[in-house]
Amino acid sequence: MENCIFCKIAERKIPANILFENEEMLVFRDVNPVAPEHFLFIPKRHIESMDIISGEDSSLIGRILKKLSEFANENGYNKKGYRIVNNMGEDGGQTVFHLHFHLLAGRQFSWPPG
Ligand code: 5GP
Ligand code: ZN
Repeated sequence: MENCIFCKIAERKIPANILFENEEMLVFRDVNPVAPEHFLFIPKRHIESMDIISGEDSSLIGRILKKLSEFANENGYNKKGYRIVNNMGEDGGQTVFHLHFHLLAGRQFSWPPG
């Protein structure tokens, strides 16, 4: 997808601090972290948001969330807990329209969100 910043990261056209990669997903640090540990989990394939999910996408999303859980456990974030965030659309606060899940850890998060 042209002009999509996360597609460009997936294609290594722009740099990112990448922690994990396989043929279908990528994990990298958020450039503007809002917690001591802030990672983004993305499919390499361009999917705009949770608004448009095919049957094929849903199994990919399941694998991404499984990787997120494994990654959190490997780094010990499960001990104190962590937060998974997906922002969808304008009211959801989505700013990059390539599906991504935030993994936030390293501090206590409040509820309800702002
Ligand atoms: P959203 O608001 O769409 O849920 O989240 C987009 C996230 O992508 C934001 O937390 C923002 O800091 C991050 N982000 C935007 N551009 C870049 C970039 O070029 N590199 C990295 N690593 N993160 C980015
Ligand atoms: Zn994209």
